[in-house]
Amino acid sequence: MDQFESLKAKVGKFSLANKTILVPEMGRSSSSLVAASMRSFGIDAQVMETYKGLQLGKQYTSGKECFPCQITLGDVLHHLEREKELLGESFNPENYLYFMAESGGPCRFGMYNKLHRIILDSMDGFSKTRIASLTAEDSYSIGGLMKPELRTHFRRTAYVAIVIADILDRMLWHTRPYEKEKGQAQAYYEKTLDNMCVAVEIHGSKKRFQRIYGILEEALGKAQDIVNPKIPPKPLIGMVGEIYLRSHTKSNQDLIKLLESYGGEVVNASIAEWVNYVSYDNMQKAKRKAILALRERDLKSLHQHLRNWLSNRIELTYQYLRMDQVYRRAKKHLQLYEDHKIDKLEKQLDNGRLFSFQVGTEAGLSIGGALEYCRHGFDGIVNVFPFTCMPSTMCSAVLKPLLDRMQVPYIDAAYDGTYQPNLEAIVRTFMYQAAQHQKKRLAQGNTRH
Ligand code: SF4
Repeated sequence: MDQFESLKAKVGKFSLANKTILVPEMGRSSSSLVAASMRSFGIDAQVMETYKGLQLGKQYTSGKECFPCQITLGDVLHHLEREKELLGESFNPENYLYFMAESGGPCRFGMYNKLHRIILDSMDGFSKTRIASLTAEDSYSIGGLMKPELRTHFRRTAYVAIVIADILDRMLWHTRPYEKEKGQAQAYYEKTLDNMCVAVEIHGSKKRFQRIYGILEEALGKAQDIVNPKIPPKPLIGMVGEIYLRSHTKSNQDLIKLLESYGGEVVNASIAEWVNYVSYDNMQKAKRKAILALRERDLKSLHQHLRNWLSNRIELTYQYLRMDQVYRRAKKHLQLYEDHKIDKLEKQLDNGRLFSFQVGTEAGLSIGGALEYCRHGFDGIVNVFPFTCMPSTMCSAVLKPLLDRMQVPYIDAAYDGTYQPNLEAIVRTFMYQAAQHQKKRLAQGNTRH
């Protein structure tokens, strides 16, 4: 089988039944909860240990690839090698499906699974491990991965799991800077994440979302006990950037903790924001195509694009409904920052003057997200990304001068697996500026968030 045939035959939407699904860790909460929702539907899914195989990831790449591509490659190679060692003769690479999403557009993310395929094919023993791939192009439709009657339900359960993961992350970021005892918030987060994985696994496939929300609510109620109410509010930092790097604490060298150590409280952009953006973007694309088909009087295409528009519209409405439900219940117990709605982020782009969603990638989300944070009175913005990341570089080019004019402190934080000796000094200076911003803001009576 040549390489092109292999890309067709061994990358795609294969049935997940009777396979072990290897899920890469991006955000700890989101990957764990998505795997739990898969298990709820009887799929044997496990999150691979991350960053242990980075050396392997680097060994099999040239150095020109994006950093997340090297990390995820390292994760799967490390996992398979370990399984081979553990199982010996009974190791069968065909028993595993490596789960790797992709997106189209101008970004290199669409190439990860192809490169990983070529590398797996070149390795003795792993060429038979197939890659299960979902694409943003069809809003991560899971056609082919499981029985038709389960697809929509599974997709929606996984979405709810992602929102819960976002809430757990926000709980951690909101409590850790104010904890009574060092380490309490992290320990509570770990315990709650485990409990939520069990809840999603038991109730997810049975559509018992209210039960899951109830368990979450109870946990958030107890999280208040961690907080020392005497600690005054800290400067609030909004984080945007490339989704993998900003969510993967090992590769961003736990930047949120570093910012907290210099006196900040951080809100990172969520994972659900990306899923909502994909539905929103596909809806807008279908609308533009429908208008074109109407102009060309192509009724067949018009019908197809309208159906596409409608299905994305329904999905987005459903997602917002679920997201609002979960946040409403969570906010009864903790003052968490709510997630951004995508049309609001697009409005921040000033009718395409600053950037356009039509360019694709996450840059529009990051620029819009940073400006939304500013509108809510945040005291500083951090843009986190892999070194040489194309969308994040565009984002930086737009945000830097803009935030400078708005007098909101801003830094870029780029990572490639090495340690920048001056990063701490940059973060310290940035946090000093953010503290000054907070003082000024409070003096003007602006307490909004
Ligand atoms: S978003 Fe950045 S890091 Fe991710 S694939 Fe695109 S260029 Fe690479």
